[in-house]
Parts: sequence; C-alpha cells; structure tokens
Amino acid sequence: MMCLKCGIAVEKGFTTSVTDLGDCLVIIRNVPCFKCAECDEVTYTADVAWRLEKMIEASKNLLQDISIIDYAKAS
Ligand SMILES: [Zn+2]
Repeated sequence: MMCLKCGIAVEKGFTTSVTDLGDCLVIIRNVPCFKCAECDEVTYTADVAWRLEKMIEASKNLLQDISIIDYAKAS
C-alpha cells in the first residue's frame, strides 16, 4: 500500500480518529490504519472505515458533548 500524497510505502499502525459532528465530538482511539512516515497521511482499510462510520453513527444517539470510544473494545 502506498501513500496517496507522496507515493512511498505506508506502515501499519494505530491512530486516533477525531470527528467533529458540530454539537458533539467523537474520538475513537486505537484505530488500526496505515500511516505514512513522511506526511502522516492516514489510510483506513474499507472495513475499518465502515466500522468507524457505524461507531460515529451510534455515538450520535448518546447525546454527549464528547464521546471517547476504544476501537479495540467496541463491538
Ligand atoms: Zn505521505
């Protein structure tokens, strides 16, 4: 897998995803990703992106200002 910006090989790692929904902030920790050492561009695989979307969707119903979710522990 290559970085879309600089074209060098990206490395497997973990990141923290932060999504600002306007009235609430969703922070998801320990998200598996591919990270570029050069520009810090983060790429998710399709199923990680899908799970993140579901988690963000679910956290909208919690009505909290800030939701902090651990990807590894979320079902
Ligand atoms: Zn890059």
